[in-house]
Amino acid sequence: MKIMDIHSHTYFSACGADKHEDTINAAINGGIQLFGISDHCYGIGERREEYIRIIDEMKNAYNGKIQLLCGIEIATVPGLGIDDPKTVKGFEYCLIEHIDRDESTVGMNIFDYADGFDCKVGIAHTDLIGMAVRKGLDPTEFLSRFADHGIFWEMNVNYDSIHGFSEHQYMLDFLNKPDITKIVKDSGIKLSVGFDGHRVYDYDPERVIRMNEFINNSGIEMVSFG
Ligand SMILES: [Zn+2]
Ligand SMILES: [Zn+2]
Repeated sequence: MKIMDIHSHTYFSACGADKHEDTINAAINGGIQLFGISDHCYGIGERREEYIRIIDEMKNAYNGKIQLLCGIEIATVPGLGIDDPKTVKGFEYCLIEHIDRDESTVGMNIFDYADGFDCKVGIAHTDLIGMAVRKGLDPTEFLSRFADHGIFWEMNVNYDSIHGFSEHQYMLDFLNKPDITKIVKDSGIKLSVGFDGHRVYDYDPERVIRMNEFINNSGIEMVSFG
């Protein structure tokens, strides 16, 4: 298995600050083997070509040291998102956020929306089981719909100063409640792991590694990239 962390931010996000080299070196030093950069779509804005070019340059510079992926985190709240997935080109994956919010422009249309992308699609830091319960849906069946559309689900292990040192409860439930782990496994949904790093000094690769190992030991499949 390849230790993955495919959720990280650079200075392309207003909430981020790091240079690419710094985040990549922190990942390498932490034992990460597959590392994805996924700045906010509204942070990248009109700089998409530059964003993709820099990550391409990093792939060359770090060839053989770590596998890098070019991702994008896509908001689905009014004014910050991307209405037409067909306009998203040149990325290897995207992470969709906010679909469980009342004001989400995508919400339960996530399946049609995801089908519109030409790259892999994942759901970032969202309590999908809680969302199913609130909608009166069976959690296993709900997660299976994501699996059917090839949408993966992020286990977000963030714990840093930017987010007030709080942990995502859905991630803790997945780790600590065997019935929840079983629902995820039975559904067939594939998982990813992301630290959602915003500052290298906060980066904690041990959290990333522990989650990768837990998923692997649980017999749950991770999303794979080439
Ligand atoms: Zn996010
Ligand atoms: Zn993020």
